[in-house]
Amino acid sequence: MYQAPLPQEYADLSPAEADARIVAAKQKLGKKLVILGHHYQRDEIIKHADYRGDSYKLAKDANLHPEADYIVFCGVHFMAESADILTPDNQIVILPNLAAGCSMADMANLFQVKKCWSDLERVLNQTPELAATAPNAQRPSPTESAPHIPNPAPRIIPVTYINSAANLKAFVGEHGGTVCTSTNAPTAVEWALRQGDKVLFFPDQHLGRNTGVKLGYDPETEMVVWDPFKPLGGNTEEALRRAKFILWKGHCSVHKRFTVEQIESARQTHPDVQVLVHPECPIDVVRTADYNGSTEYIIKTVEASAPGSTWAIGTEINLVNRLAQEHPDKTIFCLDSQICPCSTMYRIHPSFLCWVLENLVEGNVVNQVKVPEKVSHWAKEALQKMLTVCA
Ligand code: SF4
Repeated sequence: MYQAPLPQEYADLSPAEADARIVAAKQKLGKKLVILGHHYQRDEIIKHADYRGDSYKLAKDANLHPEADYIVFCGVHFMAESADILTPDNQIVILPNLAAGCSMADMANLFQVKKCWSDLERVLNQTPELAATAPNAQRPSPTESAPHIPNPAPRIIPVTYINSAANLKAFVGEHGGTVCTSTNAPTAVEWALRQGDKVLFFPDQHLGRNTGVKLGYDPETEMVVWDPFKPLGGNTEEALRRAKFILWKGHCSVHKRFTVEQIESARQTHPDVQVLVHPECPIDVVRTADYNGSTEYIIKTVEASAPGSTWAIGTEINLVNRLAQEHPDKTIFCLDSQICPCSTMYRIHPSFLCWVLENLVEGNVVNQVKVPEKVSHWAKEALQKMLTVCA
């Protein structure tokens, strides 16, 4: 998304000026405004949020204030889209910086997913058994015994991580699938496997693989990776027919940075450490850690732990630093000492927040995120499915 440069007045604001002006604008807007803040936002933003959460919690929180005119979403683009889809038409959703996207969400687009789907349908509709009954296949002679009735073609159910564009959520809704988050991925995938025989999971291969393993599937024999830049995703037809999970080749640039070596090093320097990682991390990291779970799970686990406990955490640095500040009775550090914050979340700078709020005070809406009706209809179907199935 293109973001026009900030007016100079806002670009020049000192941190203290931006903070004071955000507070003042928020006061003037009162109940007309709700600010949602993702856990990965910097402290200077999160302090102004009415609700903090991960993408799942914020998708639900967006619906809590039907009386508010404006929902300012301090997160990334796909989150603002989900909020727009789930809220009534009269509510306006605003993303303070339109350039705040998600590199993982950008790893799958509608053209690629449609191509993958049609390839899969073609391959799965031609299981050897079905191919034998194709119109041009050799027919049994009338003297042969009654024809064998083949099993129906395997049914594939699409599941998209909430970290995806609205048109991909719409694709999923239109094809009988659901959205999931890192909190509810096992429930959503279990549901999908009750509806069909296989799951196409996108865009994060790691969450898909870790979820499949949690449900008891073997990553070596029951999962394949779909590379959108290779014919058949880089697979043979036989491998696609055999696989239970077809995992899109996408990843989170933040969580991919965590390694087994970092865990081993943390255990050497802190023998009593407990390691807690996000399921967007690679599977060897998840297997080596003591615990894994969504951002909300990480927060609750640390909150519930005993004073004096030590935690090495594999997730975004703003959240880890905030946990360390809020729990001074515990030792909390990030597994990767060099880690940078999620660069796209970081684009929600206080100057941008100040700019959108002061415009609202003047009656101007800037940076509205509006999903077109034809996309929104099916995307809502997929999001509502998640909220129902995973309630
Ligand atoms: S942390 Fe990863 S998945 Fe989350 S917004 Fe940033 S790039 Fe996207």
